[in-house]
Amino acid sequence: MKKKLLNLGFCFVLLFSSLGCTRVLAQEELYMGVDIGGQSIKIGVVNEKGEIKEERKVGMDNQKSPQEVIAEITREIKKFKDYERIKTVGIGMPGDINAQKGVVRFSPNLLKWKEVPLKGLVEQELEGKKVHVDNDANVAALGAYYVDTEQKATNMVCVTLGTGVGGGIVINKKIYTGSSGSAGEVGHITIDEKGPDCQCGSNGCIEAYIGEKYFIKYIENYMKTTGKRLIKEGEALNCKTLYEKAQKGDETAKEMWRFYGKKLGIGLATIINILNPDSIVICGGVSSASAYFMDTAKKEIKKRAYASAAETCKITISKNTAKLGLIGAAMLAKEGK
Ligand SMILES: [Zn+2]
Repeated sequence: MKKKLLNLGFCFVLLFSSLGCTRVLAQEELYMGVDIGGQSIKIGVVNEKGEIKEERKVGMDNQKSPQEVIAEITREIKKFKDYERIKTVGIGMPGDINAQKGVVRFSPNLLKWKEVPLKGLVEQELEGKKVHVDNDANVAALGAYYVDTEQKATNMVCVTLGTGVGGGIVINKKIYTGSSGSAGEVGHITIDEKGPDCQCGSNGCIEAYIGEKYFIKYIENYMKTTGKRLIKEGEALNCKTLYEKAQKGDETAKEMWRFYGKKLGIGLATIINILNPDSIVICGGVSSASAYFMDTAKKEIKKRAYASAAETCKITISKNTAKLGLIGAAMLAKEGK
């Protein structure tokens, strides 16, 4: 009897230790994301669902050479407690990126970054780890796909509203970068052939109306021609203060946001007509003012897009705007493996 009990106990020990092994084997996959911006670099460890496990932020110094910046990034990456477990790193950065080769062709606000083989240089530093690089708008779209649509979207467009108007496209659950890597430039859809000049060289682009500096210029002109006042002498006028004015009930501020919504809506209607996406996620700093422009944008979509396509498309405001770059970069690592 005693022997039988001993055997039973031994079986339990075996069972529990094997369960323990399974638990170790089923440890979640982790990926490293690096979001290089004009002001700062965010680095983080993210799981396969897009949840951030640990993150760090370092300043971005435009005066430093790309090599110096890369050395700093790799130094920081090695400080993470899960560094050894991570096999793949994803990096997102603004500019013209050759994603296949991982080369930064140029970056408009980081002038020293010309023809920088970012992937190769980081891989050299992080011996044995794979690195994937893409443009920040594509990376943000991937982030939105993971955490805003929870991977439920099949065809999705992410539109970033800020200083400029950017975009990224997901088709059949994969980032669509186009033939030379520049797909998704939704900010440069022409909405008026006679419209204001845009820094891209064209004119009448969505960005030439609602990119922050263009939008503010429009408001300044509007104030001059109508005599309406939005700000007092010496007060700053930008999207943030305009949002605050609208929140306080200022009718002129609200009218300006409706103008913003109209121009955005015309662009979104074109996106819906061409791509027939099931989701559009709006992100970027200016998206926080969406309560004042989205209704007008939706009216414009209803007026211009194919009814069936407009009804199919779910438009949401990202709940993760500030983190999309970092999460998306890590998911770029996951997708690329
Ligand atoms: Zn343009």
